[in-house]
Amino acid sequence: MPTFRPKEALKGMPTKRSRVLVTGAGGFIGHHLVSFLRKKGYWVRGADLKYPDFRTTDAHEFRLVDLRCWEDCLSVMEGIDEVFGLAADMGGMGFISSNHAQILHNNSLINLHSLEAARRSGVKRYLFSSSACIYPEYKQNDTQCVPLREQDAYPAEPQDAYGWEKLITERLCMHYREDYGLETRIVRFHNIFGPYGTWQGGREKAPAALCRKIATAKRAGVNEIEIWGDGEQTRSFCFISDCLAGLHKLMRSDYSQPLNLGQDRMLSINKLAEMIGDIAGIPVVLRHVPGPQGVRGRNSDNTRLREVLGWEPQVSLEEGLAYTYAWIEEELRKTAHRDAMKLSTPSQATSELDIRSVQM
Ligand code: NAD
Repeated sequence: MPTFRPKEALKGMPTKRSRVLVTGAGGFIGHHLVSFLRKKGYWVRGADLKYPDFRTTDAHEFRLVDLRCWEDCLSVMEGIDEVFGLAADMGGMGFISSNHAQILHNNSLINLHSLEAARRSGVKRYLFSSSACIYPEYKQNDTQCVPLREQDAYPAEPQDAYGWEKLITERLCMHYREDYGLETRIVRFHNIFGPYGTWQGGREKAPAALCRKIATAKRAGVNEIEIWGDGEQTRSFCFISDCLAGLHKLMRSDYSQPLNLGQDRMLSINKLAEMIGDIAGIPVVLRHVPGPQGVRGRNSDNTRLREVLGWEPQVSLEEGLAYTYAWIEEELRKTAHRDAMKLSTPSQATSELDIRSVQM
């Protein structure tokens, strides 16, 4: 398995030891960001409902909190200079398309309270993680759609409640900057993927779900996997180390308008599955089944990203998928091993049952 090292994490340290809060620090991007910022020399507090699922946190301090609650938001902001606001109730298309009320309710509370608590606590900079899901559905009805520019967000018509909430919080950030002088930054992620993210359970996104399906098929000695819809829907995918580098650059910039952060290489889900099959070393056979697909096509226009940051994502999809597939294949192996151990060791309940039946 290749060693995973975000390239940026190994570069120079800042001179200033700012105190940074990462909300959602138990999640995929958040826990990577904590490690990245710590290596850069920041003092980092993490906050989340849970600890990271697959590794221990590198945060100097980690608070288990519910950021829907005002008191919890206020407490985690204490003594903080800069906030990376990543906490959200979210998941892949299956989750987002079927939990509208829960998502809109939870994420509205998290963001309303987090921004206000940051303002009252004297936080200087606040970065909000928005999403490509804010873009209007009418611009994404074709597999060969035109890449989305930041100014395409309006007239607004996001597909899901998830996107509407992100759009409202973008506006809230702009108004907090104009009305209260809180420096806000807004990033619109386009499908971030990589190791140490959710890969099963219903909240996983397409790259992780496909890696899991293909690794499972490979273990079982079969080639067929299921794909939701006809698989012709298109997306672009950005590796986690590029996401971390971009986040840091945006926070350090003086740019306060929304900015895309993603790759601009668009491909279909069918093609993505084939690429992962090549990495796994099996020729995959795709069986198309009904399922949520999201918009028909989506790609990032990175013109403004290049202008503002003088940079764009560097890691190729092939390289990023190789890291991700290797990690998920290994996770699957460990899970299968644990399950086999459970089966071969009779549980206490089973033993008692066996004893009782023998005694009878
Ligand atoms: P994630 O689900 O892995 O992480 C989100 C974290 O927020 C989780 O650990 C969760 O426990 C935490 N959280 C949820 N409700 C909370 C609450 N009430 N209090 C405290 N913590 C809470 O997701 P991620 O992929 O790391 O995404 C991070 C951010 O980026 C999110 O805001 C997400 O909407 C946004 N985003 C991500 C992507 C992507 O491709 N991963 C794309 C667009 C936007």
